[in-house]
Amino acid sequence: MIGPQPRRTILFDLYGTLVPGGSRLQRDTLAFQMADVLEVDRTKFVDIVRDTFDARVRGTMGGLSETISELARLVGGTPNSRQIALAAEQRLSFSRGLLSDTYSVSHLSQLKSRGYHFGIVTDCSAETPLSWTSSWLSDVIDVVAFSCELGVRKPDPEIYLTATRCLNVQPEECVFIGDGGSNELFGAHELGMATTMLVDPNLLNTDRFDEVGAWDGAIITSLAELVHDSRE
Ligand SMILES: [Mg+2]
Repeated sequence: MIGPQPRRTILFDLYGTLVPGGSRLQRDTLAFQMADVLEVDRTKFVDIVRDTFDARVRGTMGGLSETISELARLVGGTPNSRQIALAAEQRLSFSRGLLSDTYSVSHLSQLKSRGYHFGIVTDCSAETPLSWTSSWLSDVIDVVAFSCELGVRKPDPEIYLTATRCLNVQPEECVFIGDGGSNELFGAHELGMATTMLVDPNLLNTDRFDEVGAWDGAIITSLAELVHDSRE
């Protein structure tokens, strides 16, 4: 799908594409642990974390501590600063764990050695930018577009165009690869990107926060297919 005239810029989704996104069980378990630290109702806290996904990835709830404080308040809690700091560390630890997964290292390294440039376009909340620089990904990825920092999320064109502008390429010169969350494939396709869905059995456990339309375009089942195509 990179084609006879290779597009040497690839925009990737992050969670469920380059690293796991965490399963629903893992994410709900984390929310339970945070609720216990914050001394709020576990079930209500799990629900409010899920219900505020859109606001959190748009960054409208502020930074990580502000977000946790507001989430607790929304379910009737009044945590002190120590409790908020502990819950923030739980959240950061979870995020760092996801971003330390090395599943895609070799694929990206091989593509990098062939002259490819990479951007990340991800709907994420405050803990991802905070965890980013400690991840191996920050050494390999050239440009990041984090929704919570930009205030805009996929499939809005602006989040993709922020990445392409930083990479100094036109959208039509890019490949977009993602597992399909946030209807990201449709947004990329609309901009003229060569768009491919990644359906990797090793990453299918990733939690989905919102409904995604059916994709009838190109599909790959491993980033290894990208590496193979890049040799042609
Ligand atoms: Mg994803």
